[in-house]
Amino acid sequence: MKKLLMIATGGTIASVQKEHGLVPGITSTELIEYLPSLKHIADVDSLQLLSLDSSNMRPSHWMQIAGAIEKNYDAYDGFVICHGTDTMAFTAAALSYLIQNSKKPIVITGAQKPISSEISDAKQNLLCAFSYAASAGACNVSVVFGGKVIAGTRAKKTHTKSYHAFSSMNYPDIAVFQGDRLVRYIDQKTGKTPQFYHDLNEKVGLYKVLPNSDPELLYYLLERNDAVIIESFGTGGLPEQGEEMLVRLKEYTDRGKLIVMTTQVPSEGSDMSVYRVGGRLKEACGIIECFDMSLESILAKLMWVLAVEKTRAKRIKRFYKPVNFDISFSE
Ligand code: ASP
Repeated sequence: MKKLLMIATGGTIASVQKEHGLVPGITSTELIEYLPSLKHIADVDSLQLLSLDSSNMRPSHWMQIAGAIEKNYDAYDGFVICHGTDTMAFTAAALSYLIQNSKKPIVITGAQKPISSEISDAKQNLLCAFSYAASAGACNVSVVFGGKVIAGTRAKKTHTKSYHAFSSMNYPDIAVFQGDRLVRYIDQKTGKTPQFYHDLNEKVGLYKVLPNSDPELLYYLLERNDAVIIESFGTGGLPEQGEEMLVRLKEYTDRGKLIVMTTQVPSEGSDMSVYRVGGRLKEACGIIECFDMSLESILAKLMWVLAVEKTRAKRIKRFYKPVNFDISFSE
């Protein structure tokens, strides 16, 4: 029987009703007690690492989770992390970069309703997460939710209330649960030894383009960050707001910093070469594009890339190297 470690971090799954709404309050041991059939799936220990609404999760918490996995890596065959759904996709992406080539599965799950509620998705999600973590061929980081197994870099919360809260963006599900049966669609491959990273550079900003956008906000973000993500309207571009903008963007990328273009459109990703509003930026300002990556992965990958590489060329090369199925195309 596989030996698994459950790491509890809070979230709705472990929440109780308080005066102003739900707050994490159920312990990791209590979560396990709700699952008497777990003993048939795996031999499970539990660790109460955090007790947070995941809205309060910051990159330092991602490092804490990765650190707990590294510390316990040799003692277990896999890990199940209980996490709030709001920022689960960010944590899954971050762990995908902080722990690479893991032969042992790192599975993140949570629920839309607390495990103590009469009607809840919590038990099903947890049992599926443990079953997947105990299954043959499971490795690297994935999200298990609503009967789907999603690569950690491709998960996105797409429904705020329904039980099928997560979707795999621009990539097929790794596997699905059909009743109790696990049907695998994608083989997860790993290298020989896991690689743990211990640094992130948090200085990454996001500029969301709106019809009334003020470029001063973009300039402010450039001043304060080592990389800025631009979330454009369509295949990628910026409103044409004068030559000054092009000059300022170029000055920024000339200093080794990164400006990366993504899109507000959920499916299919960017292609900046289609329209002049995008093509010019690529050529004149050194803006690179993210193609079909999720925003969560772009943010986490930039934090990781900025921390591990010091030159612009190396950063770009590293950014385009696929990790845990995060990108399908590159320059
Ligand atoms: N606000 C909660 C959290 O992210 C939502 C949830 O877990 O479903 O912690």
